[in-house]
Amino acid sequence: MKKIQNFVNGEYTAPFAKHYLDNYNPATGEVYSLVPDSDEKDVEIAMQYAQATFPKWASTSVEVRSRILLKISELIEKNLDKFAEAESIDTGKPISLARQMDIPRAATNFRFFATAIQHYATAAHATDHIAINYTLRQPLGVVVCISPWNLPLYLFTWKIAPAIAAGNCVIAKPSETTPMTAYLLGEICQEAGLPAGVLNILHGLGNKVGTALVAHPEVKAISFTGSTATGATIAKLTAPQFKKISLEMGGKNPNIIFADCDYDKMLETTLRSSFANQGQICLCGSRILVESSLYERFKADFVAHTRQLQVGDPAFPVTQQGAIVSSAHFQKIMSYIDLAQQEGGKILCGGEAIKFSGRCAGGWFIAPTIIENLPIDCRTNQEEIFGPVVSIMPFDTEADALKYANGVRYGLSATIWTQNTARAHRLAAQIQAGVVWVNCWLLRDLRTPFGGMKDSGIGREGGWEALNFFTEAKNVCIKYD
Ligand code: NAD
Repeated sequence: MKKIQNFVNGEYTAPFAKHYLDNYNPATGEVYSLVPDSDEKDVEIAMQYAQATFPKWASTSVEVRSRILLKISELIEKNLDKFAEAESIDTGKPISLARQMDIPRAATNFRFFATAIQHYATAAHATDHIAINYTLRQPLGVVVCISPWNLPLYLFTWKIAPAIAAGNCVIAKPSETTPMTAYLLGEICQEAGLPAGVLNILHGLGNKVGTALVAHPEVKAISFTGSTATGATIAKLTAPQFKKISLEMGGKNPNIIFADCDYDKMLETTLRSSFANQGQICLCGSRILVESSLYERFKADFVAHTRQLQVGDPAFPVTQQGAIVSSAHFQKIMSYIDLAQQEGGKILCGGEAIKFSGRCAGGWFIAPTIIENLPIDCRTNQEEIFGPVVSIMPFDTEADALKYANGVRYGLSATIWTQNTARAHRLAAQIQAGVVWVNCWLLRDLRTPFGGMKDSGIGREGGWEALNFFTEAKNVCIKYD
């Protein structure tokens, strides 16, 4: 059976204790590889290499760093098929989605920061004709990047690329549930000529190697994407050490649909924003608010289109809905479907597990599920489910839509569908979310700040925000006389 290894100081290495965890294929329910169960000893070893490498990497010219990052980007693209297959097997997502979204976006992350770092500039301020102030931006040292299972390579590289572009050395930990593409990235880094020790990848459990990484006193910054509960643990652990942290966490995103929207575009995109990656994208809209006059038409069409989604083997190119990432997550989603019914929800479609025969007989599949009639403040409408389950509800006025949209502890993203631009601007300004899409979804410009408000996050990633996060600003004030 394939044994995934850590990537430390430019080499694939076994975890110090030689312990491994099972890695499952969600489409079959079978163990298909082993993943290192790393611990604090592995953190210590990786830290020594990363620290030893840091001065050299920090003083490597931007031109050279940029070329290496561009090469990594090219090599990911060259190996698109290999990465897409690995990602699909590891996560259960349709291979078409991995090919079209996850892997190309991972390559783009490296390309974007390879070029962004060349244009990264700081300001100078002349002070009353007596002095000049200028800002120096310097890399931090060894930083930690921790990512979740839903978009494994995409989110992993979204953190690593700006960190190393800015001259830091990185110890990165992918999710133990989906380690395969991070493992393959090591080979690419070797081939691209990334100096040993710049990127170190440790696999293993969050509450073991993850905790050891976060708590290590020499770690200067932590960029984390995952659940709000884990983010809170990291915040608590790191606060007394005054580490820089960026936390990208959960969401319960509203999708607000007005009767004057471009109906066909809205319907097509809402299908995607509800169920792409089996609803396991932090930016999926899980609460669909529809203006009352459009509600019945939308409900009928949305249910009809959802029923037509092809659920099946993620390896088939025609599959639109693959497997749920793990048995534990499958159970969690199913328990929310039960809860929704106890809370008065009416299942309009889906609501059950799907069993296949043949290769996928043991896989974890759930039919895309639409629920209506749920009170706005019930648990199903308040808590993150992170699966193919959406709740739909009507609203009467713009003020009601805004109240419902903002009435959760989360504030990651929101989508507004309307042709009325004044209304779009008005609502966008008032919605408590870090990202607001108007008449689109998941359209990303990597120069823009990305992150959540309220319990969805602190800090922003993307563009200069990421490069600012991974550098320390120092002001130098020189008096003229
Ligand atoms: P998770 O919090 O369980 O795990 C995320 C990562 O943190 C994993 O690598 C895990 O091993 C590690 N981890 C767990 N406990 C840790 C600890 N105590 N110390 C250090 N590391 C620890 O999240 P998940 O289940 O992998 O991912 C799903 C969640 O991620 C959802 O809540 C989703 O909304 C969120 N998410 C957010 C964004 C965003 O941009 N805001 C993007 C994708 C996913």
